Amino acid sequence: MNDALRHELTFLRDLGFTYLDIPEKSPAVSESVHDANGKTLLEDLQAIAVVCEKCKLSKTRTQVVYGVGNPNADLMFIGEAPGRDEDLKGEPFVGRAGQLLTDIIKAMKLTRDDVYIANVVKCRPPENRNPEPEELDACRPYIRRQVEIIKPKVIVTLGKFALQSLTEKSYGITATRGQWLEYNGVKVMPTYHPAYLLRTPSAKKDVWADMKQVMAELVND
Ligand code: URA
Ligand code: SF4
Repeated sequence: MNDALRHELTFLRDLGFTYLDIPEKSPAVSESVHDANGKTLLEDLQAIAVVCEKCKLSKTRTQVVYGVGNPNADLMFIGEAPGRDEDLKGEPFVGRAGQLLTDIIKAMKLTRDDVYIANVVKCRPPENRNPEPEELDACRPYIRRQVEIIKPKVIVTLGKFALQSLTEKSYGITATRGQWLEYNGVKVMPTYHPAYLLRTPSAKKDVWADMKQVMAELVND
């Protein structure tokens, strides 16, 4: 067995697979039904974001990490803030936690290009400290506008800060994980952050249970 296959199978086992119950057909890639100019609107917003100095993280960042993926995505993943790898590359979720998110997306029979991935804070907090309330407030308009432009059917928030900052509500992650919430008419599935899964692999099966709900929602629609 090659290493890639072993990695894949180990990952699926960690998710709790005892048999392959993934739907054959990808649920989340519908044809472009949204604004044809979604791409342009996202690019216009990006042009503003990349020179943003609305909070002090602008002083320490290498670059703004705006977001990547399909402007017409049915499914959006929203994380917290860039780490070191993301700050250097300018792309969200490309470090170790990012690899795990990419694996989760693959297990959903999707690719990173099918979905849209962004963070509630676009610049790296020094030493990966938690984002501060002023930073979350300053950056919130960007993620909210990205959601407005993309109009996904489902948003998956990764961890506490993503959920709380997007919605501006003080939801706890243990109480809400796995339960459908709503933000501006969009269904929101809160789940654990992949960085937490790196420390607590036993929680991967919970995240997979949440992603199965997401897949079911996307096919039903
Ligand atoms: N963690 C996040 O929340 N976002 C990233 O882009 C990378 C790690
Ligand atoms: Fe602007 Fe957001 Fe970066 Fe702060 S974190 S400088 S608000 S883009």
